Amino acid sequence: MKTEQAATSSEAPSQESASPDALYEPRPCLDKGFVRLVDYMGGDDAIVQAARVSYGKGTKKTSVDRGLIRYLMRHAHTTPFEMVEFKFHVKLPIFVARQWIRHRTANVNEYSGRYSIMEDEFYAPRQNDIHFQSRLNKQGRDSAEPPEALRDRFRSITVKTGEDSYTEYKEFIGEDLARELARINLPISLYTQWYWKIDLHNLFHFLRLRMDDHAQYEIRVYATAMAGIVKHIAPLAYEAFEDYSINAVSFSGPELRLLGGRLADLDIAESDAKAAGVSKRELKELQNKLKKIRNIK
Ligand SMILES: Cc1cc2nc3c(=O)[nH]c(=O)nc-3n(C[C@H](O)[C@H](O)[C@H](O)COP(=O)(O)OP(=O)(O)OC[C@H]3O[C@@H](n4cnc5c(N)ncnc54)[C@H](O)[C@@H]3O)c2cc1C
Repeated sequence: MKTEQAATSSEAPSQESASPDALYEPRPCLDKGFVRLVDYMGGDDAIVQAARVSYGKGTKKTSVDRGLIRYLMRHAHTTPFEMVEFKFHVKLPIFVARQWIRHRTANVNEYSGRYSIMEDEFYAPRQNDIHFQSRLNKQGRDSAEPPEALRDRFRSITVKTGEDSYTEYKEFIGEDLARELARINLPISLYTQWYWKIDLHNLFHFLRLRMDDHAQYEIRVYATAMAGIVKHIAPLAYEAFEDYSINAVSFSGPELRLLGGRLADLDIAESDAKAAGVSKRELKELQNKLKKIRNIK
């Protein structure tokens, strides 16, 4: 196992690693955070093996395994994906941790501000990540860029708030005030750390929600960094997740009533399906869906 290293780069989430050693390197997130893979169990093989409830390796040709994994993902046969586990060490601002902790299916152990002295590390967004309130999404940012002066002011106040509150924190610690009290005036831009362990099925659920455009940019950075690791460890499962979850859409009943008449008459040639990466089995499934749409009243 690699020892922990500080990650200070403010680059965007790192890409999939090539070498096994690089897999355990901390992936820098935001200005001072990181995601680091501590340990993992299983991969595509473990999913296939569980699905076949076999002993030994249980895998066949890669193309057969791929088909099985894609079938499982498409039909929400989720338990084989729970056979793969990931343990991450994450350093993240408290406001990101508050969103993250809502995902209840993980095991978490966090740095204790009651026991330990908090580090002097606060998140300050880059100029380019400072935006106006979105008019369309009440929980989001607009793409329009605020004036430089507004961005500067926001950034410098964010930095100063961290510095001032930490100075006061250290003063109270110096006067032997309880750590659990001294910390309560520190802002939610303060960095914390935790170990976070989760299985692949629930990690996909987390990634689907937190890589989405509707999620806050700061948590998306972490989700994307973890996705790069997952992609490396379980490439077939990740590909299926992209195809059937991330890049898929679902329609409501009323939407289908609106679209149905037009979609239902589609006649899809096998060669077109093949060119789009749709297998024979999936084409049959698609034709069944279209049949269902045709019957929507
Ligand atoms: C874009 C976005 C905006 C959000 N905004 C808000 C907000 O404004 N306010 C707010 O409070 N939250 C907000 N959330 C958090 C959201 O409501 C969920 O709490 C969070 O996404 C975790 O989802 P989950 O419960 O499905 O995940 P998990 O906790 O990981 O659970 C996974 C699945 O397990 C099942 N499960 C787990 N625990 C239970 C349980 N105790 N009972 C029943 N089923 C369970 C459910 O099927 C659940 O979907 C937001 C999330 C997103 C992605």
